[in-house]
Amino acid sequence: MASVYRFVDDCEDKSLLGNKGANLVIMTKLGLPVPPGFVVSIEAYVAYKGSRHLPTHDIDSALEWLEKETGGKLGDGLLVSVRSSAAVSMPGMMDTVLNIKDKASMMSAIKKVLDSWDNLRAVEYRRLNRIPSDMGTAAIVQAMVMGNKDKRSGTGVIFTRNPSTGEPGIFGEYMNQAQGEDLVSGTKTPGPVSDLRSAMPKVYAKLEEAAQKLETHFQDMQDVEFTVESGKLYVLQTRSGKRSGQAAVRIAVDMVNQGLITREEAVMRVKAEELKALLHKRIKSPEEHAPLAHGLNAAPGAACGKVSFKIGEVVRMAEKSERVILVRPDTSPDDIQGIAAADGVLTSRGGLTSHAAIVTRAMGKPCICGAEEIKIDLDAEQFEVAGHVVKKGMEITIDGTTGNVYLGSLPLEEADVTAEVAELLSWADGFRRLGVRANADTAEMIRLAKTFGCEGVGLCRTERQFNAPERLSAIRAFIMASTAAERMEALERLRQLQKEDFVAIFRELQGMPIIIRLLDLPLHEFLPSEADTPDPRVKERVRELREINPMIGHRGVRLGVTNPEIYQMQVEAIGEAKAEVEQEMPVNVSVMVPQVITVQELLWVKKHVKGSGLRFGVMMETVRACMRAGKLIHVADFFSFGTNDLTQAVYSFSREDAEKKFLGTYLRLGILQDNPFEVIDVKGVGRLMETAVFWARRNRRDLEIGVCGEHGGEARSVAYFHTIGVNYVSCSAFRIPVARLVAAQAAIEEKMEKTPAAISSP
Ligand code: ADP
Ligand code: MG
Ligand code: MG
Repeated sequence: MASVYRFVDDCEDKSLLGNKGANLVIMTKLGLPVPPGFVVSIEAYVAYKGSRHLPTHDIDSALEWLEKETGGKLGDGLLVSVRSSAAVSMPGMMDTVLNIKDKASMMSAIKKVLDSWDNLRAVEYRRLNRIPSDMGTAAIVQAMVMGNKDKRSGTGVIFTRNPSTGEPGIFGEYMNQAQGEDLVSGTKTPGPVSDLRSAMPKVYAKLEEAAQKLETHFQDMQDVEFTVESGKLYVLQTRSGKRSGQAAVRIAVDMVNQGLITREEAVMRVKAEELKALLHKRIKSPEEHAPLAHGLNAAPGAACGKVSFKIGEVVRMAEKSERVILVRPDTSPDDIQGIAAADGVLTSRGGLTSHAAIVTRAMGKPCICGAEEIKIDLDAEQFEVAGHVVKKGMEITIDGTTGNVYLGSLPLEEADVTAEVAELLSWADGFRRLGVRANADTAEMIRLAKTFGCEGVGLCRTERQFNAPERLSAIRAFIMASTAAERMEALERLRQLQKEDFVAIFRELQGMPIIIRLLDLPLHEFLPSEADTPDPRVKERVRELREINPMIGHRGVRLGVTNPEIYQMQVEAIGEAKAEVEQEMPVNVSVMVPQVITVQELLWVKKHVKGSGLRFGVMMETVRACMRAGKLIHVADFFSFGTNDLTQAVYSFSREDAEKKFLGTYLRLGILQDNPFEVIDVKGVGRLMETAVFWARRNRRDLEIGVCGEHGGEARSVAYFHTIGVNYVSCSAFRIPVARLVAAQAAIEEKMEKTPAAISSP
């Protein structure tokens, strides 16, 4: 038989039999109770498509065999079904014809099923899932078993484990005295499969046994269709079951512990997306609720609470343990207490790097930014959207994972780093070559990052520490100082405050490495806006410091060159804190200089902070620094790529403006494939990084090179960083688990000599 295969023939080829057909053959081989049948192959489909002819002779002789096998004649003791079977599973998309009684209907049913490859539903499904439209389908002809025959008959669908929690044990639905169609069409409501256990315990035991056999063979959780006819079990279909993130992790870990798969396989099986979805609070059944508005998904997780527009009020409400969502057009450093106190933040302006977005992401707090449809009236303390007026005190829910805003307080589900997640990640740690560190600015953030498994801090931004009210006033005093004495006094206050911070940070780290970045922000960022201050002296200073392009203005090491006393103060504070903590435990601290373009800048900084004995590194975030990597290694102790600013520099985009104004259009039109601020641009920014790594390592093979932009926690980017041989990635606390998983997957794929799937796309 060339184009028709019986279940008992020795062919398991999916490209000929399709997924369903091949699995029926395998199940027959495993000795499971499968009603006999044969497959009109995909090869036959291809021929039929061209000629409209079926291999009638082969089909006739297969039917003869089936009649012999079952001891009946078609229409007399034998009914058949005709089922579709594509190489890629397309559940429910194509036709099935049941209860066929004569040869003519079987001819025509086979054609109907083959033709259903091109029905509208199937075409749309393939388009959405990017399945090629020329693959075609096979048709299965199979002896019918009757789930509606008598009281001891029925039909059902089970998963071999719980698909939402991953708990072991079969899970699913059963309907007594029914055929598959009744279940799918929803005309009757099925009960839980435990109904079968009480009605026919022996059949249930057989079903459990079949589930076990299938899992052992396929080494994965299965989705199984079965029918019971007069107290006898028949298995009709099996395929790999769809599952939630939680179930994916639990199943992978359990299967290792049962000896079904290896640790490497378990690590490879869990998708970064699945792990990510696990780690934040989420809305229980989001599909049941209509969103009120939509904005940018700035910081993941869901939160609900009463709307408040005023920082002071948010703080007071939080003190009374009320849940509250801070709603503002945008936020500034002055709002930090309100953000810290709120359960979530919603803004109508600003992009994914706006103040609100960055601060909330670092805090692990849900945030939606740039929800432009909502019109905020701060005076009236209300916002308007789609005909609704939401007043202060009314409840809303925000989903920072999707960017959806909902009216009212929706039920949420807790995310937790379960024992299974911890175990899977500990296996991942055993496979990866990339180190994983945290971007964390305070002892509190480091404590959080440690719970996610960081191996140190790759980026500690000192300006974040200035945002607390007391510090803000000290740095403002420094900026406003009119005499040298005033300046020194303000600096002294800052030094004390920074030292206290560093002591706490070093204690929390207990000897793990940390890289502290010297002040990067332009000074005017610490002042209120001109309109917000009544003080004419402050107004004037704000005007003086104003810049046309602050992103590429007087910031980073440029500030350190013109105001060396700031870096001097910071390095002293670090040195003093180090000396103090070293009395109790080791301290492993390095200092990183931002925005460097030339060796001379670094030499100047080093000259002014002489005698510190600290390691000095360069934050590689300008194009010129990357081109001069071969020279910078002579004065730098390490490199760390700041991929956010580097991407801005390579694209000549200002991220905020790009995301707000035109990036959406670029992505929609396909001019760019991905947002380069989310997924590293391998062909542009990546090539520059590779050049820098090459010239650095040419002369200093052991130079430590890291990545500390937020790309360091994005799955595809992490896989790429693995391939260019950097030593570690550093990202915000909540992204650490994904970085650990993907770094391991990249290492395993490398071992198998495959291009990491994450970066093989054109
Ligand atoms: P789908 O690809 O949509 O899953 P199937 O080929 O599995 O379609 O057919 C749908 C349903 O029809 C099955 O779940 C089963 O209940 C019923 N069915 C198909 N073939 C048979 C058979 N030989 N005996 C009894 N029921 C059958
Ligand atoms: Mg099916
Ligand atoms: Mg930067």
